[in-house]
Amino acid sequence: MREVNMMQNTNVNENGKIYGKWKIMPDTWCITDGWGNFIYLLIGKEKAMLIDTCSCEGNVREVVEEITEKEIMVVNTHGHFDHTGGNACWPEAWMTKEASVHAKEPFAGIYKEWFAQKLYPDYKIHFLSGGEEIDLGERKVEVIPIPAHSEGSIALLDRKTRSLFGGDEIEAGQVILFVRNEAISLQELAKRHRENMYKLKAKRKDYDWIWPAHNGLPLYPDDYLNDYIALDEEIINGTAKVLANTAGFGFPPDNQAVPNPFLNYGKLYRVEKGVASFVFSEEESVYHND
Ligand SMILES: [Zn+2]
Repeated sequence: MREVNMMQNTNVNENGKIYGKWKIMPDTWCITDGWGNFIYLLIGKEKAMLIDTCSCEGNVREVVEEITEKEIMVVNTHGHFDHTGGNACWPEAWMTKEASVHAKEPFAGIYKEWFAQKLYPDYKIHFLSGGEEIDLGERKVEVIPIPAHSEGSIALLDRKTRSLFGGDEIEAGQVILFVRNEAISLQELAKRHRENMYKLKAKRKDYDWIWPAHNGLPLYPDDYLNDYIALDEEIINGTAKVLANTAGFGFPPDNQAVPNPFLNYGKLYRVEKGVASFVFSEEESVYHND
């Protein structure tokens, strides 16, 4: 009896159940860890794709296996730990080479303990380079490189449900531009981001919704693509208006009285246009996990 109770408690913490899950489309589920991370399970006839895995609290694999018994292929939109931590519940994962650089580096504090307890902390990584069509069985998912927020970012296009999964590159609230492998100028980042938005716009006839990894979902594509392109152009031209406060949807204010996970990234700034918003650093900041 005690053993049964322990198993039932794997995914319960002081706030209740760690993970919530709900069906968003046929054979398609969203799972969240309550920390503002959204991951997606796409079930094909042969296997299922899990897009991102949250930060490795509890055991996300149990949640996935409550939904499907199919073989799971773990694919990461990019290498930030809030997307890759739970990979270590499986023996292997797929991501870009650039995403793999920090994928196994837990954020500071409790994340390190959670990660160390996982079955496969040294899981095998297979590289994706973009352009692949991953066949789940009567359901193909296209890999589209869109690196700006992170060097390793991809979007995943599922024509079957007419859905685009965009990771952290196109989001409500904000896209952050300061947690990267390498520092490059804000203007250069905006050029890359604009190019990616045009790439997604070119495939617009193939999807109706964008499913992001944080904040509000789903996103109506046209306004987000157009406003992000317009904001990218204002940054490139030097006309973007910097707001007085960084506070946003799912993002802390620059009032340092509250715990702010981004204190190591220098002074941060927010720019906005329509539904698009970026937060960037005055320093050309790169990845910290301390
Ligand atoms: Zn990210």
